[in-house]
Amino acid sequence: MIPETLQPLLTAVQAHYSMPIEVVIDGPASGVLTHEQSHQELLANGHLQLTVSDTTDVAYTLSHELLHMQLTTAGYPPLQFHLATGEPQVDQQFFAVATALYDAALHGQIRAWQVAHGLFTPAVEKALAAGFTQKLKGDDATQLSVFRTLTALDAYVMFDGRAGDWLADVPDEATAAADLYGVLAAKPIDSPFAFRRTVIKLWRAFDQTLTRHGYQETGNAEFATLPPVLSERQLRLALNQTFEVRHSALRDRTTRQRAYVAQGKGDGQNAFVLPLPASFSPEAFQKLYQTPLSDILARYELDYTVR
Ligand SMILES: [Zn+2]
Repeated sequence: MIPETLQPLLTAVQAHYSMPIEVVIDGPASGVLTHEQSHQELLANGHLQLTVSDTTDVAYTLSHELLHMQLTTAGYPPLQFHLATGEPQVDQQFFAVATALYDAALHGQIRAWQVAHGLFTPAVEKALAAGFTQKLKGDDATQLSVFRTLTALDAYVMFDGRAGDWLADVPDEATAAADLYGVLAAKPIDSPFAFRRTVIKLWRAFDQTLTRHGYQETGNAEFATLPPVLSERQLRLALNQTFEVRHSALRDRTTRQRAYVAQGKGDGQNAFVLPLPASFSPEAFQKLYQTPLSDILARYELDYTVR
């Protein structure tokens, strides 16, 4: 049964989805809350199924999943992956880091909604703390753990910047996560524009953390697509006034050719990928560059939000 308090939220989310949303609640009540206890799946019949696979606190877990969806329909740019490096393992690492940081930037808003609606109860706090403690168990590895750093950041977000006992075992990750939380909390995330800007900053800050600890950075400025949040004025301007289109060394998963990546002139972030043919001539390219951005977005059916 869907908790009655969530029916209005489900109705509001459904109103923005063309496919029917089905909720399945099925699983044990482990006593521990994590953010891996629900998922979405597009069924063969075209329905979108939301599954809550742990029933420790159905209202918490289901509202979390629904709020992710609601924020996307409210114009918060969805995270997309159109490119491939040629090494699936590297793709997977970039994907994991980009997604975890993107989610962390969104979770503050989700938490705020849950607090406002009385769902962030003392019992939830306890079960969530238990979940973080479980995921953050220290081990003998002396190297900084990327996974634990990302988990610790999520813990900071869900506990509004308060560090819990769970960080005691992982001092290096706790320090790195505290720095990242500083980046995330520096400005309020109160609009799609502010959200996008923060995600880009977080990705950059995390790359700096990685290089500081001797790891290779992710390159999510190029690899991950974060659809743009544009002003009316920018939409009227020519493509090349806001974006630089780079012929990337990465492959476009759709065309399987080297990708054409539009990166913001201000922030350097991949905002969309143009599925241009390999035979695209320099003249055609010049013409494309002069085309109003709104025409390009419509022609290639690209996602964007208006500020
Ligand atoms: Zn989440």
